[in-house]
Amino acid sequence: MFDVHQIRQDFPILTEKIYGKPLVYLDNGATTQRPKRVVEVMDEYYLRYNSNVHRGVHFLSNKCTDANERAREIVKDYIHAAGTEEVIFTRGTTESINLVAYTFGEAFIREGDEIVVTEMEHHANIVPWQMLCERKGCVLKVVPFKDNGELDMEAFAALMNERVKLVGVAYVSNVLGTVNPVKQIIDAAHAVGAYVLVDAAQAIQHIPLDVQELDCDFLAFSGHKIYGPTGVGVLYGKKALLEQMPPWHGGGEMIKEVRFEKTTYNELPFKFEAGTPDFIGIIGLGEAIEYVKSVGLEAIAAHEHELIEYAMGQIRQIPGIILYGDAPGKSSVVSFGLKGIHHFDLGTLLDKMGIAVRTGQLCADPVMQHYGVTGMVRASFAMYNTLEEIDALCAGLKKIEQIFKM
Ligand code: PMP
Repeated sequence: MFDVHQIRQDFPILTEKIYGKPLVYLDNGATTQRPKRVVEVMDEYYLRYNSNVHRGVHFLSNKCTDANERAREIVKDYIHAAGTEEVIFTRGTTESINLVAYTFGEAFIREGDEIVVTEMEHHANIVPWQMLCERKGCVLKVVPFKDNGELDMEAFAALMNERVKLVGVAYVSNVLGTVNPVKQIIDAAHAVGAYVLVDAAQAIQHIPLDVQELDCDFLAFSGHKIYGPTGVGVLYGKKALLEQMPPWHGGGEMIKEVRFEKTTYNELPFKFEAGTPDFIGIIGLGEAIEYVKSVGLEAIAAHEHELIEYAMGQIRQIPGIILYGDAPGKSSVVSFGLKGIHHFDLGTLLDKMGIAVRTGQLCADPVMQHYGVTGMVRASFAMYNTLEEIDALCAGLKKIEQIFKM
């Protein structure tokens, strides 16, 4: 049984007071909170077992190595990868995408090739490709979205041709909440011989993922958006593809033999994991996924569905509200503005009521340009949010609207 009040007890931060008011944390799209057990496991490893991984023969080193590799198993099972060699630990979604842009870019991209992204991508899934285009002379093409936040799939189909080598697409938009038809996109891209990278930063914590069923070539996500620590993330890649890609960072761990004449590289996934990884962060990520599994992702998704439906219905009724993104089946994100009020003022006044929302361009400048605004306010939900918190947000917005009307 999903019991949100029980779940809230696992997250001590949720009992904090902000300016004497109960915290209403609605900035989960930026980062989620961590349950106690994630912090406790990390504490335990720092305080009792800390020792560098993959290097020592002694007890502590083996303990950390085993836990690091166990976390890889947990991630592999969670996204249903075919093997652990397909799970590369990175610093987060941004680093995962940059890794692909550099190494896949190096091996597979030639002048005149095309990379396709969508207009609703986070900057992390735009800028690395632009940098690749500058290096390689390839061309970036953009799939537009419709005003309701749905991707224009006709425009997408029209962009598919044999020059396209890679499609980068967010599974869920961090601004519009749109859940994109990634399976359809992957199949269409494969039909013209293109590979697909799925940015799952806003999907991993809400939607069950199966990389084999999706048949995506790459998938990226961050630990801190799925109740895990900061500074750690994952790149999933198909083994056959990763094997054809050169390493990115050089250093310890990614080598087999180092000779001044010629160095040979380690096997997957270590080929892409140069240097000491954030192994305690990785262990924390494994624990976070175990926590999500213990609650049940299906149950979480059902609860979050209720939250988003309720939030959309309630926020829509606020006088002067402008909602951005209303695609059917959208995920846990509501972005909006209030007529005549700057988004920073709105965010600041909500903060004074203890309500944490995100304001600004939300790392998605092209989405702001689409709607001709300089910024928005975004409320984003996680498993521990309640309908009462949405009521608090709406009450806050109504109050602000009244103040500004006077
Ligand atoms: N893509 C999307 C869709 C995101 O929401 C985010 C984080 N806001 C990122 C990429 C980047 O994630 P990180 O900063 O953890 O690398």
